[in-house]
Amino acid sequence: MNAPVPPETKGQPGTAAAALFGLCPRCGSRTLFGGVAKFAARCRVCGLDFTRFNVGDGPAAFLTLIIGAVVTALALWLQLAVEPPFWVHVILWVPITAGLVVLGLRAGKGWLLIAEYRRKAGEAVSEDWTMAPPEEPE
Ligand SMILES: [Zn+2]
Repeated sequence: MNAPVPPETKGQPGTAAAALFGLCPRCGSRTLFGGVAKFAARCRVCGLDFTRFNVGDGPAAFLTLIIGAVVTALALWLQLAVEPPFWVHVILWVPITAGLVVLGLRAGKGWLLIAEYRRKAGEAVSEDWTMAPPEEPE
């Protein structure tokens, strides 16, 4: 059972898949990221300008808190259950935390950018806020 696809998103990748694999929201090419967790300036295939989207720091703060809580809980559980030496915690949790943060940032930032693209969200410009009523034709 698939939900009906709105016509404007037909042929585009699903939001979850696009976020996980860094797919361009317009053409579906794997061009969203230029660095580990940094957006490319534009899509190398269709030319979509990724710099006009601003996902902000929301994903970073949110993910850091969630991943920190999960890793701390797991480390406490391991310590209480097995009581391993300290170096086990270091070689286990440092790479896991770094990997989860990078993967989480890619998925979170990608998801927000794709959501902005799909909803045509953007910064308001001064023309959007004029107080004068529209001129009526005579
Ligand atoms: Zn593209």
